[in-house]
Amino acid sequence: MPQASCTLPKEGSMNRDEIITILSEDNPVKIEELFRRARTVRAREFSNKIFLYGFVYFSTWCRNNCNFCYYRNANSISRYRKTESEIIAISELLAKSGVNLIDLTMGEDLAYHKEHFTTVFDMIKVIKDRTGLPVMISPGLVENAWIDRFSELDTEWYALYQETHNRELFARLRAGQDYDERMNAKLYARDRGMLIEEGILTGVGEDLEDIADSLLEMGKIGARQVRVMSFVPQKGIPMEQVKKPEPIQELKIIALLRLLYPKALIPASLDIDGIKGLEDRINAGASVVTSIIPPRSGLAGVAQNSMDVDEGGRTVAEAAGILKNMGLEPASAEEYRDYLTTLREGSI
Ligand code: SF4
Repeated sequence: MPQASCTLPKEGSMNRDEIITILSEDNPVKIEELFRRARTVRAREFSNKIFLYGFVYFSTWCRNNCNFCYYRNANSISRYRKTESEIIAISELLAKSGVNLIDLTMGEDLAYHKEHFTTVFDMIKVIKDRTGLPVMISPGLVENAWIDRFSELDTEWYALYQETHNRELFARLRAGQDYDERMNAKLYARDRGMLIEEGILTGVGEDLEDIADSLLEMGKIGARQVRVMSFVPQKGIPMEQVKKPEPIQELKIIALLRLLYPKALIPASLDIDGIKGLEDRINAGASVVTSIIPPRSGLAGVAQNSMDVDEGGRTVAEAAGILKNMGLEPASAEEYRDYLTTLREGSI
């Protein structure tokens, strides 16, 4: 294969126009060069270690009607809300299997809002105690007083995704929700000492300028984990007929994030293409495998409700096997904790 000339801007210093130029690149040789550069940066920052996150999507009830989401309130689907003991047991199972973090995710389920999140706070305490692992809470938009409590409980991460930073597109995607309210909750969590994760969806009507703006915004707000996922059309949602984007777009964005933010945690989500999509995302520069789910746990994924979940494809063992073939290996719990300290102390 001919060598690409090195036309990529210096890492960490890309401006909007340079990001747009890379996003519009369709020369496979140059795209491969982009991925190679991203892998080099990851290897420098993380050596051959990849972090693994366990995913517990414990309630699929939601008050909102995001037009891209299968779990939107108006979609007539079967839903679940796991009991406290089920959630704790699943978290313990995930910890035993070797994940580095427990990601507790829910829709904006009013049952928890009505009881002021008491059950969720109790669960976080028990899960942190029994697993010894850091916790990410992905509760949607919540009151500042509840974020205070997450912070007091030493919940390491607050994940809340705008999905786009174009306000008009946000209004179309997250119908009825307020852009600033959502952003401010995230910034509040950051100011209370929590690490924050920001994310975008690609394939939802954004243009390249929007993507570039989002990538730059993620850095400005101090997100320490930055994610992109491809939109997956699902049954019964208003965007059911929108085509899934070309997979290369998500991979290019992962690589750009790596070059922009060398130390950031960047997920390779198993939610889009299942375990078979892992290698490409890691090859593009991702440093975290997200959405590890114990088989037959009765849990769903977020972007797709069933991709590889019950078949047992989304386990630490499966992911570790793929990583090994790529010369990589899962990080230990201690290595992940140490990395969080680095993230808290420095820039990305
Ligand atoms: S994306 Fe989240 S907030 Fe929006 S409908 Fe789905 S679960 Fe609810």
